[in-house]
Amino acid sequence: MLGNFSYHNATKLYFGDDSLQYLNEELPKYGKTVQLIYGGGSVKRNGIYDAVVEILKANGKTVVEDAGVMPNPTVEKLREGVRIARENHVDLLLAMGGGSCCDYAKAVSVSVHCDDDPWEKYYVRFEEPDCEIVPVACILTMAGTGSEMNAGAVITNHEQKLKIGHVFGEEVMPKFSILNPKFTFSLPKRQMVAGIYDIFNHICEQYFSGEDDNTSDYLAEALMRSVVHSSLIAVENPEDYEARSNIMWSATWALNTLISRGKSTDWMVHMLGQAVGAVTDATHGMTLAAVSLPYYRTIMPYGEKKFARFATEVWRVNPEGKSDRELAEAGLEALENWMKQIGVAMNITELGASEDVIEDIADATIILDGGYKVLTRDEVVRILRESL
Ligand code: NAP
Ligand code: FE
Repeated sequence: MLGNFSYHNATKLYFGDDSLQYLNEELPKYGKTVQLIYGGGSVKRNGIYDAVVEILKANGKTVVEDAGVMPNPTVEKLREGVRIARENHVDLLLAMGGGSCCDYAKAVSVSVHCDDDPWEKYYVRFEEPDCEIVPVACILTMAGTGSEMNAGAVITNHEQKLKIGHVFGEEVMPKFSILNPKFTFSLPKRQMVAGIYDIFNHICEQYFSGEDDNTSDYLAEALMRSVVHSSLIAVENPEDYEARSNIMWSATWALNTLISRGKSTDWMVHMLGQAVGAVTDATHGMTLAAVSLPYYRTIMPYGEKKFARFATEVWRVNPEGKSDRELAEAGLEALENWMKQIGVAMNITELGASEDVIEDIADATIILDGGYKVLTRDEVVRILRESL
């Protein structure tokens, strides 16, 4: 049964190969000074930076540069971004990049006018912002996280070996996001498939929980099928606009809060993956892929019916003559085959982890309730060992 909920998505989207021009419509709504946030330079190589700066200048904006946002943005970088925003009294935080830039912009937005240290306030004490929030907007160049239309912001603290996400309220969501599928064409293939697995896993995290008849689960199945279908085309031809645009749109819907309405969710693959990321700094989607099968095989006996449904509805496994357990196993086998086909990381060893760091990763793993089984610490360690 659908639980009670409210639903409002605060982000306006512009989607398509002409979407950047709509920046001209949005910019007049904000003040003069724009903090332009980007990563290690891909936007300079593919021309997106020049196109955006030209529009900012044409709209009379003062541009304050904030470059060098790394994949898995760190707390040190966050503090630097806050300093830049304060010194320049910025009116808009404009992120150009993937989830890292967009998450980072949100973390800066809630910290500029706040005296407390952002890590302590938002990632240790999990407080909500009680200060003015600087508006955020996003020009997305990588499909995966859904950060363009949600309020999540993941920050890494290497010193403490922690990678933690805070899901803020709707006031922290980007005011607008620009999604041009062509902007994702220059992504290296490894990043593209990491993003694809991130999308798929966001859907799984919301699907593998509860056994009620729930509209959200039907939406989830449709999204999963679309992602699988388009991914197989995109790995063959990364410049297939139809496939890349469907992947980009699925990424947004996979994690813009819609498919979790009225139902329970799990998120344990993300907890395990983020702990792997905290210790190895590996690519987010790859950390999820590397721990997924050992995790799902551990919880499957407790949610057998849903895993059987996953097999028939997502992978079209023929149910004839098969028990729920056999179907569930066939579904996970189909998932494994697809993961190998698109080329995601199948273990954490290839991401730089070894037996020596298993305890560290287990320490960094936050155990959540919501899935078919609450893991014990021993099970976390076993899953991580099986992921090696
Ligand atoms: P990302 O870390 O933003 O980007 C990964 C890499 O892709 C960077 O090296 C970047 O290079 C490159 N790149 C991006 N767009 C490109 C393009 N068009 N052409 C060439 N290279 C490009 O990747 P992401 O997976 O989107 O974000 C990961 C972060 O988001 C992690 O910290 C993860 O934990 C977090 N996350 C957030 C949510 C959420 O709900 N908010 C959900 C899941 C994960 P440059 O730096 O040079 O641009
Ligand atoms: Fe994710």
